Amino acid sequence: MKAIRLVETGRPLEMQEIPVPPVGERDVLIRIRAAGICHSDVHYRSGRSSVGTLPQTLGHEIAGVVETTGSQATRFTAGDRVCVHYQGSCGQCTYCSRGYEQFCHEGYMIGKHRDGGYAEYIAVPERNVMLLPAEISFEHGAAMMCSSSTSFHALHKARLQPGETVAVFGAGGLGMSAIQLARGMGALEVFAVDINPEKLDLARSYGAIPINASAGDPVAELRRLTGGKGVDVALELIGLPLTMRQSVLALGVFGRAVLAGVTDKPFEINGYYDLIGKEAEVIGCSDHLMQEFPLLLEYGRRGVLDLTQVVTRTISLDAGAVNAAMDELERFGGVVRTVITP
Ligand SMILES: [Zn+2]
Ligand SMILES: [Zn+2]
Repeated sequence: MKAIRLVETGRPLEMQEIPVPPVGERDVLIRIRAAGICHSDVHYRSGRSSVGTLPQTLGHEIAGVVETTGSQATRFTAGDRVCVHYQGSCGQCTYCSRGYEQFCHEGYMIGKHRDGGYAEYIAVPERNVMLLPAEISFEHGAAMMCSSSTSFHALHKARLQPGETVAVFGAGGLGMSAIQLARGMGALEVFAVDINPEKLDLARSYGAIPINASAGDPVAELRRLTGGKGVDVALELIGLPLTMRQSVLALGVFGRAVLAGVTDKPFEINGYYDLIGKEAEVIGCSDHLMQEFPLLLEYGRRGVLDLTQVVTRTISLDAGAVNAAMDELERFGGVVRTVITP
């Protein structure tokens, strides 16, 4: 089969002809129909984030059709439309048994530590496979496996309650899902903070109140728009010390700031004024959980979560096209998601 693989970091991905992966007893072999290109893949290619042994097939946002199943994998049959949770886990350790497989002692990531979805087929453990509702396209299903699910996890970590206000820092791919999911979960008002007018327009079209941070202090603006109170929940989806600090400063009494953007740079807050005095909280958010997918997919099925304006481009399983899409992501970032449809 064809696979687009990382052979050497810092170099373009290469098309390789490799065998269709063997199907273990508890595995499901999937004919891939959609594989999303993610910003993290760009970091794997450049070497900024490390991956497993090379060569490695990238791609962790996967949807497709079941081709065959191992003898012990009985939940699926050939022809089922499915999508894949990329977090591999043992299912038995102290974290797995509590449903927190992102901290599994033997955890690994499909498309990073094991061959992923930039290929015609993938074999994955049955426990990572979910049915994809007929109403959700393969392209949207694939995108939901990463940015949407991480946004959903962030809102769970924030313990969002109906009637609360939410500020989303970063109106990119994660932000567009966060806005829709927060509204679906009953947020009274969702504010989108960014400096890109096009992203802010898109955020508005999804029902958020846009705040252009290049036009003035977004914290002051959030306070003004909440009658001086500050927001109940702030999601930081960018990974900048500045916006991390702003997400905390924007909180009201009992506010929760969830940090999902990644940076290794520290940020400064005043414990007394920013946290203690308000009983505010700063919460870390990493990946997402299998248990969150049923409701996420149901939101997708009902159109509460609609990625039509986010997943705007599909390309074939071609090394040149994939590298070009990654180059673009590296240079401009942006909301628009490209999905490979092998
Ligand atoms: Zn991703
Ligand atoms: Zn485990």
